[in-house]
Amino acid sequence: MKKKMQRGTQVVHAGLPKASQGMPFNQGPVFASTFHLSGDCDSADYQYARFNNPTWQALEDGLAELEGGETVIFPSGMAAAAAIMTSVLTTGDKVVLPGDGYFATRAYAHEFLEPNGIAIELVATCDLLEADYSGVTLVLIESPSNPMLDVVDIAQLAKRIHAAGGLLAIDNTTATVLGQQPLALGADFSMSADTKAVNGHSDVVFGHVSGVDPQRIERVRLWRKLAGNIPGPMETWLVHRGLATLDMRLERMTQNAQRVAEFLSANKNVASVRYPGLSSDPSHEVAQQQMSHMGFIVSFDLGTQKAADMFLHKATAIFEATSFGGVHTMAERRARWGTDNVSPGLIRLSVGCEKCDDIIAELTACLSGE
Ligand SMILES: *Cc1c(COP(=O)(O)O)cnc(C)c1O
Repeated sequence: MKKKMQRGTQVVHAGLPKASQGMPFNQGPVFASTFHLSGDCDSADYQYARFNNPTWQALEDGLAELEGGETVIFPSGMAAAAAIMTSVLTTGDKVVLPGDGYFATRAYAHEFLEPNGIAIELVATCDLLEADYSGVTLVLIESPSNPMLDVVDIAQLAKRIHAAGGLLAIDNTTATVLGQQPLALGADFSMSADTKAVNGHSDVVFGHVSGVDPQRIERVRLWRKLAGNIPGPMETWLVHRGLATLDMRLERMTQNAQRVAEFLSANKNVASVRYPGLSSDPSHEVAQQQMSHMGFIVSFDLGTQKAADMFLHKATAIFEATSFGGVHTMAERRARWGTDNVSPGLIRLSVGCEKCDDIIAELTACLSGE
């Protein structure tokens, strides 16, 4: 079965222990700070729990198979982003980040890299293919970008950056590894905030980095080991548990999102809608080429803060919360953070696994003029 497995099957089996008589299907979390280690330090796979742990290994093996590259897990998406930037960049280097991507990635670079002589250039996601990459060491971008869902042709971008001698890292959080495979498209690193759809149950903060070059991944692993930025076994085990249902959850969420985006586009109280699955969306064509699903985030503009606040106030089955990718539908007015350059009426809706008729009924009630 192994060789011909579809990705939706692969994800169910990823990282499981080999079938063996009388052994459990799943290995539980291994709670240990240290392991029996006599003599030579290299004589055991596990020595001390800041270096490695069997629970990490199982999830890393599973994610590596799905990503198509060696994988290092982290206790958050930001730890994953910081690991890439910190292990690659040094004084005199230049990094390109999206001006319209996840705020904390830019903030980390400004707070902790810029003072050490690393130059930062911000480029809007839709301008990435036209940017000049000469003298650029690393480009760390998102596609689709969060929250406006702009999509960039990753294969073309990788070619341009490699021609200039730089590295490309993709923050794959919004698409997930089942939505697109950045490494297969030519990126050097793929990273994800597994806090979102990969874990999928809004109960763990987590992340990972995958890469094609074993030496670069070894540096990422060394940074984790020396910075001590390590995930706990329980969180690791929960993410592995969540991973098994990723394909099934995405199937429901993305189908729901398509219908929700079409519904919102036809509603007179909605000023504009962004969803790569809409044929009218600027991201649609490239998304169709490089992604295997169109995602579960729908960003829509109600024109004013007042209208957006009213919508959220009326919501009962849609939770008002930050984050996305969970089984529960959730929404927030993004401009409330003051970190994204978006319209005051913009709502980022993360469509969950509920029955779609119920989500549409809730949206209908929240958008009604009463
Ligand atoms: C949430 C998020 C992150 C950060 O993940 P944490 O687990 O919260 O640290 C990074 N990138 C994107 C695109 C995200 O949505």
